[in-house]
Amino acid sequence: MRLAVLVSIVLVACEEPSSCPQGALDLPARAEAITTRLASVPEGAALLRDHDPRICFADSPSVIDEQTHAVLLDRALAAGEAAARLGHLLVHVRDGSPYRDGPDCDVVVARALDAEARAHALELDLRRALSVTPDVLRYEFEPAYWAVPEHERIALVRAYLESHPDGAPGIDALASGYRARCAR
Ligand SMILES: [Zn+2]
Repeated sequence: MRLAVLVSIVLVACEEPSSCPQGALDLPARAEAITTRLASVPEGAALLRDHDPRICFADSPSVIDEQTHAVLLDRALAAGEAAARLGHLLVHVRDGSPYRDGPDCDVVVARALDAEARAHALELDLRRALSVTPDVLRYEFEPAYWAVPEHERIALVRAYLESHPDGAPGIDALASGYRARCAR
């Protein structure tokens, strides 16, 4: 009996959803301001309707923590840039990780870049919808993105990611990173 009680306490502790990953900051008011900003436009509201992310902050580029699935936002981003970036990360939550095992690394990398191009394109759409002034994140392809017809925009981002495998301003080393992960 005592053991059963102990086991259930341990299980509850493990399921505790409110803790941030080690080293990340829990800033509830800031998280609330960012989700409210994202929810103020239809594309953002749609993403938040389906996913209620645990948001934490860190002094590093924004990512999803693979262990806890918490969204880790870069503390340097103001609310608008952070909200658009949150939308990008929620695309990955909705669609699943860009990285999935595959028949060979060319396929794995190509599929991951397809997913990243869609997420980056939505991030740019959100930046415009939220009237974000580029600040910390200065994407080189942002002006070109708006200069081409709508149906060419994702392909433009995709080509940029492919031609910058080791990263660029605001962009991680996506292609080389996914390839290295596949090769391991
Ligand atoms: Zn991404």
